Amino acid sequence: MKTLPGFLSLLLLMTVGRADTPVAVSKPVSAELPVRALMLLTLPPSSLEKILDFVRHDLPREGVNHLIFQIDYAYEYKTHPELVAKNAYTRAQIKSLVAACREAHIKLIPLVNCLGHQSWAKTNNQLLTVYPQFDETAGLYPDNEGLYCRSYCPNHPDVHRVIFDLLGEIAEVFESDAVHVGMNEVFLIGEDTCPRCHGKDKAELFAQEVRTLRDFLATKKVRLWMWGDRFIDGNVTGLGKWEGSENQTSRAIDLVPKDIVICDWHYDSAPPTPGYFAVKGFDVVICSYNKPRVAVEEAEQIFNLRRANANNAMGPRLLGVMSTNWGKSAEFADAVRQAKSSSIPEEKSSALNFVRLFESVRQLTAQAESLPATPAR
Ligand SMILES: [Zn+2]
Repeated sequence: MKTLPGFLSLLLLMTVGRADTPVAVSKPVSAELPVRALMLLTLPPSSLEKILDFVRHDLPREGVNHLIFQIDYAYEYKTHPELVAKNAYTRAQIKSLVAACREAHIKLIPLVNCLGHQSWAKTNNQLLTVYPQFDETAGLYPDNEGLYCRSYCPNHPDVHRVIFDLLGEIAEVFESDAVHVGMNEVFLIGEDTCPRCHGKDKAELFAQEVRTLRDFLATKKVRLWMWGDRFIDGNVTGLGKWEGSENQTSRAIDLVPKDIVICDWHYDSAPPTPGYFAVKGFDVVICSYNKPRVAVEEAEQIFNLRRANANNAMGPRLLGVMSTNWGKSAEFADAVRQAKSSSIPEEKSSALNFVRLFESVRQLTAQAESLPATPAR
């Protein structure tokens, strides 16, 4: 980690500073990105040994220092055994992952989708299967025809009793001071058919749920991470309804605490949204998926913004990068090893995205370390 060297600060004070014009020393914007993350989708516990090996050997070599592990209901929750999915992880299995990450100096962050993503295709997730009364659109959309994913109702009086139990237990078993709560692509919110949310401001409803989860996690000294798409106006930006919001939630950006971490995902291009979140006061991580060219552009953007803003409050907020994988994690590990020999197709590969992103980060870090620090005025 490089910061403005002490002797350089002293030199500045001697040559530039006068008693009536105090010289501020540059804030410590490190050449090395604080967050260099990989996100893995839940995999069957039978693949765990392969992932442990990947964590211990491959990730440190690439420079990964954060692993976001989507667990959802695939853990043997003691607080809510009725919500445990098939093929769930045992406590001992998660502890082996915790130990592997610690050994590899990787911060492990569990991901539990809250609010949205409560179903996939025709199947509802455990929460709405066991507690159908929590469904924002209870009784509607048979077989989930005509919707993307179900949401729970943030105003149901009993839903947070359950959600808090899950989040508290998962933070404890993962021994993590951060939990990623998803909250991307929430299309069903403030629905006219919901007796509790009908007619309410969708931005306020979304912000209310962020605040509720954030405040609970804060009592456990756990920081909230989440996807950023609902905070971006999909119409104004032209980014559309997926990586932006076209359902009136974007004003929520001004209604939530600034201490949450925004995971700003863009898979097809590298728009200037990390700067937007930094201007608004948030720590932000830019996230790519399966287009290596986009991943490299995003890394370059983060490094450029950190350098350009080294002397104001925004530079340190550009935390870093994340490569996401939305396929099977064990196959991803194999594909990464294959990609290191450059024998897989260039486009549409999350493994190559990961490899190229981290090559780029290592290169950009070396360049940043070789540049002289810019003194503050
Ligand atoms: Zn509702």
